Amino acid sequence: MGAIWVYAERTAAGVAPVTLELLTHVRSLGQPVEAVVLHPDGASITDALGAHGAARVHLGTDPLFADRLAQPAADALAALVCEHRPDLLVFGATYDARDVCARVGARTGAAVVANGTGLRRDGDAILVDSSIFGLTLQVTTRVGGPTPCVLIRPRSFVAEAGPARAPEILPVVVAIPPEHQRVRRVESVTAVETGPKLEEAPVVVSGGRGLQDPANFRLLDRIAELLHGAVGASRAVVDAGWVPYARQVGQTGKTVKPTVYIACGISGAMQHTVGMKGARHIVAINKDPDAPIFRLADLGVVGDTLTVLPAVIEELERRVG
Ligand SMILES: Cc1cc2nc3c(=O)[nH]c(=O)nc-3n(C[C@H](O)[C@H](O)[C@H](O)COP(=O)(O)OP(=O)(O)OC[C@H]3O[C@@H](n4cnc5c(N)ncnc54)[C@H](O)[C@@H]3O)c2cc1C
Repeated sequence: MGAIWVYAERTAAGVAPVTLELLTHVRSLGQPVEAVVLHPDGASITDALGAHGAARVHLGTDPLFADRLAQPAADALAALVCEHRPDLLVFGATYDARDVCARVGARTGAAVVANGTGLRRDGDAILVDSSIFGLTLQVTTRVGGPTPCVLIRPRSFVAEAGPARAPEILPVVVAIPPEHQRVRRVESVTAVETGPKLEEAPVVVSGGRGLQDPANFRLLDRIAELLHGAVGASRAVVDAGWVPYARQVGQTGKTVKPTVYIACGISGAMQHTVGMKGARHIVAINKDPDAPIFRLADLGVVGDTLTVLPAVIEELERRVG
């Protein structure tokens, strides 16, 4: 059996969490696991990649990769794939990796499977579980042909370190043609967040149109503060400009897997629930007893958010404030 490769991303904060999730999952398939990292500071994450299962790391540190534009990374990756022919190339479904993945698939003529949520072995074949048609249909795809590319949604698995080992480092030296160097990212702005990140918070308090007014998000801010959680939102209120897109949970937003998810005035449309149904405990507050969110909820409160939330805050302040 050949190796499975994971395209490792290095962000401003270090190794991308999805990279470690993928390595953790891929190592359970029983094949050699390798990672490719293309970043001038890539060496700073090779230990983490090794700790999560990469026996070898292909490391490209050309400053061109710093701009994180897809073309240089796709050039390097396509050349490596043609040289080593791994069994499978796995990417996290992030904005940057999606760009790279599509280009690598086009250049190598490989199949690309998007929106994956899991990988399984069936004898010699690899099966990819994924969601299609706006996440309305779950399908299993048997991938074959030369080095197929698979995109897996972040937070599909929990990252766990394996036995500690230092990976073998293989330098990547690829000439990037001048025509692939013309576009440069000149500025990158990271949104300043206070409190835990939405995707990593143990408690997520999300609001929808049932909050009535953007100013009422302050109620969620207070609950998140008291519970050391983060505030999320439905697309309806993001589209309405109440809160930034970075807060959106769901199909076209973020996938969260907190211990507790509190949905306040959110109907529970399928496009929202695909982003939060992995929460361990779901609490819903909605004035409509037939709201679809109650089908998922472990605890449902039928009531007006503007009455229930102040009472929740009062009780939390008494207990933990
Ligand atoms: C391709 C596509 C992608 C999408 N992606 C996403 C996505 O990523 N995330 C997402 O969230 N949506 C997404 N949507 C939109 C989704 O289909 C829903 O329209 C959206 O989730 C609805 O948001 P909402 O629940 O806040 O609003 P509504 O559907 O308007 O529901 C409001 C809820 O609040 C309740 N309510 C009203 N007043 C009160 C009150 N005072 N107290 C308590 N409850 C009250 C109502 O009973 C209702 O259940 C997508 C749609 C499409 C087509």
